[in-house]
Amino acid sequence: MQTHNVGGEAGEGRRGVGPLIPPWSDTMRPLRQQVFERVRAAGLIPRVQVAKDLGVSPASVTTITSDLIDAGLIEEVAAPRDGESVRGRPAVALGVRAAAHRVAGMKISDREHTAVIVDFAGNLIADDAVPRRPGPMTLAELLDAVETLLDRVCAKAGISRADLSAVGVGVPGFVDSLEGMVLWSSVLADRAVPLAAQASARLGLPVWIDNDANLVALAELWFGAGRGLSDFVVVTIEHGVGMGLVLNHRIYRGAQRVGLELGHTKVQLDGALCRCGQRGCLEAYVADYALAREATTALNWGHKEGQSIGVLLESLYDHAKAGNATARSIFRRAGRFLGVGLSNVVNLFDPSLIILSGDRMRYDYLYATETLAEMENLAINTGRPRPPIEIHAWGDLLWAHGAAALALSAVTEGLVSANRDIAAQ
Ligand SMILES: [Zn+2]
Repeated sequence: MQTHNVGGEAGEGRRGVGPLIPPWSDTMRPLRQQVFERVRAAGLIPRVQVAKDLGVSPASVTTITSDLIDAGLIEEVAAPRDGESVRGRPAVALGVRAAAHRVAGMKISDREHTAVIVDFAGNLIADDAVPRRPGPMTLAELLDAVETLLDRVCAKAGISRADLSAVGVGVPGFVDSLEGMVLWSSVLADRAVPLAAQASARLGLPVWIDNDANLVALAELWFGAGRGLSDFVVVTIEHGVGMGLVLNHRIYRGAQRVGLELGHTKVQLDGALCRCGQRGCLEAYVADYALAREATTALNWGHKEGQSIGVLLESLYDHAKAGNATARSIFRRAGRFLGVGLSNVVNLFDPSLIILSGDRMRYDYLYATETLAEMENLAINTGRPRPPIEIHAWGDLLWAHGAAALALSAVTEGLVSANRDIAAQ
């Protein structure tokens, strides 16, 4: 027998080729988890359809669904039949048992804190929001705010904190979701804060955190326009500019979970100073502090102590609506820079949809037709159509929903992928 040896001594053994994908990696979820996720995504679905969709035998689906029913995670529901009633056994479909678990999702922002409680099937049970004074908080202040808001929204839902299985929290800035670390955030005075562990200790519950733009993308993926899309982008404009990228139906975060910082991509060499300390970042032209900087200069408004940026921007917007050419030019210039950033996103990722989200989407001059024409001009001409751009000004509740989806994912992973023996069947 002839042996093949490429680039090695004989007898070294074979090193193999092809990607080294660990077992049960993100792309190879256990069948048990795939079955559960199929049922959850469908709402109600017959067993035989689950087997068809996953390309596995009905017998293995029956074994797994029996186990999931025994575990209280899914349930059998009498399914409505089309047309005339059929004799014999009633049609039965599978659905997630909504009462099995409840989770909370929260968004911590510069303007207000928002919270929702959803059941295991993702149905909204209660929501709440509390305004806050702008500016960074200490960790103790942030934990107080989280605890107070959680207790308020639990009271609205008529449950106690102990009835929750997990809490998801979104914060702006550089967040390592896997390690539960906030590396930097505009809402925290300190850097490198192990927020997930600290909040978990305070609340007595498992806590998962993520960058708020990722959570908007997750909300679109779970509840919104992104459910049926494999690759799409969410760009958020709030106090800063954020981005969430979904690749192959999953949030892409980068090797160190700190990528996709669209707000700090450079749109001008040696340009305007950004709050990250560097110059020429997209955020330094589009975010609200950039608009406020322009407004105070161009409209000759002195900075009043204690005046919030929100008040300043509202005033600028009112001037623009009333026909003030300078005020309009400020928004339009910011919008053209946004167009530059979006064209870079199109050229890099070729997404099927771009969703613009965030509080600043109320300022419609930012994405007026002529400003977004900048994106058309700067995206390379491949002969293929540009991705559609949708504006979703749904507000902080949607973001909190994304945080709830994060908590639901974590609870589900822990429950349905735990037993590898069953999964291997
Ligand atoms: Zn920057």
